[in-house]
Amino acid sequence: MNNLPIYDVIIVGAGASGLICALECARAGKKALLLEKDAQPGRKILASGNGRCNITNRFVSPKHYHAPQKLIEQALTVFPFEKCKNYFEALGIALREEENGRFFPATGKSTAVLEPLKLAVSEAGAELLTGQEVTRIKKGKPFILYTQKGDLFKANKVVLACGSCAYPQLTGTQSGYQLAQNLGHSIIPPAAALCALNVQEKAIARLQGIRAQAALTARRQNQALAHSQGEILFTNYGVSGPAVINISSEVSRNLPKGPVELDINFFAGYADFSAFMQRRKETFGKRRAKDFFAGLLHENIANLLIDFAGIRKNIPVKDWTPGTWQNAVNTLQKWTFHIASARPWQEAMAASGGVNTSEINYNTFESLKCPGVFITGELLDVDGASGGFNLHFAWSSGFAAARKLSEV
Ligand SMILES: Cc1cc2nc3c(=O)[nH]c(=O)nc-3n(C[C@H](O)[C@H](O)[C@H](O)COP(=O)(O)OP(=O)(O)OC[C@H]3O[C@@H](n4cnc5c(N)ncnc54)[C@H](O)[C@@H]3O)c2cc1C
Repeated sequence: MNNLPIYDVIIVGAGASGLICALECARAGKKALLLEKDAQPGRKILASGNGRCNITNRFVSPKHYHAPQKLIEQALTVFPFEKCKNYFEALGIALREEENGRFFPATGKSTAVLEPLKLAVSEAGAELLTGQEVTRIKKGKPFILYTQKGDLFKANKVVLACGSCAYPQLTGTQSGYQLAQNLGHSIIPPAAALCALNVQEKAIARLQGIRAQAALTARRQNQALAHSQGEILFTNYGVSGPAVINISSEVSRNLPKGPVELDINFFAGYADFSAFMQRRKETFGKRRAKDFFAGLLHENIANLLIDFAGIRKNIPVKDWTPGTWQNAVNTLQKWTFHIASARPWQEAMAASGGVNTSEINYNTFESLKCPGVFITGELLDVDGASGGFNLHFAWSSGFAAARKLSEV
């Protein structure tokens, strides 16, 4: 054991955050080792953006994250969008911008990000060992890292870049939480983020496969928890699609505290919807419910809404009671479903929760509980909206930690 080399820094986890951190440490002349439990590094990078890797976003800002705003501000000061773009271009990766500021490799394949990154890490002289899961870290000078295979490694500094427990079929694991906890950190219970939602109303299965544009509000009683607007996809279990995925983190964090409702507004863009509906009634009032909604709503959505709102199908709209009319108009703008749960971890692209961010230095990502240890990426209680924000945080936190490690 005394003959073991002492690394300047060992990085646990060769995902987005660990790879960039190792690269920057090695470039600064540090003797750096990456230990990766999987047989290959960066598997989530490969899967990201449907295999296209949405690497960053031109509009990245603190408002895209559930995290202390100061923490994100610091990370974005060190590694803002322009720097991120230039950094990957300097690695030889041609990038292309798509709608809403999202950046992808121009080849349209995530291998175009991972391969140049791996090459740069190796050319800079950082070592990478795969199939090495770190199971215990003993504090000291140096730190001693134990792996499942029974190997030991020594390092003056350690970076925990183990990611979250989301997507266990692609390296997601609780391992990082356990390592951090053993070093004195507290863990905010992880909750599935960037995922679809199960709803209690089984009849929603009648809408399976239908896409619609809507404004969504997740709320508990009268307290709004999150808003979003965009495409919603109905499924046999509940709701999915970009607008749902972007509120899923807030919903799943709040579910353990009590029931959460989801209001769907199909007509958010209408300035005076009641007047619009009134005019429609004057024109088409002789029609029965199903025909009255033709041209306004997808047929299946209209049929389900008729059942939900308790509308009698055979009565012309002009003969509805004022209560029935008002109920129908209200439901079109606020159709409430009850959230049963988030979809399982296997379908969550990220995790909310993780290492308590109040226990790290916002500038350097060094642990305040265990100096010499740095914690980066999705292992922290930081989660971003969909659109390249999670990868951006993984890169920026790994880069910020390396900047500090390179000074030492
Ligand atoms: C299907 C999918 C699509 C996504 N799409 C996007 C997208 O388009 N844009 C975006 O911004 N984000 C996307 N994300 C999220 C993004 O991939 C993650 O936020 C990001 O990879 C987190 O980086 P990380 O380095 O913190 O963790 P990871 O990339 O998860 O890397 C952690 C690494 O640590 C290893 N590890 C864990 N524990 C140990 C241990 N004890 N010992 C050794 N190794 C260990 C793991 O095997 C893994 O390789 C997506 C995620 C998924 C699952």
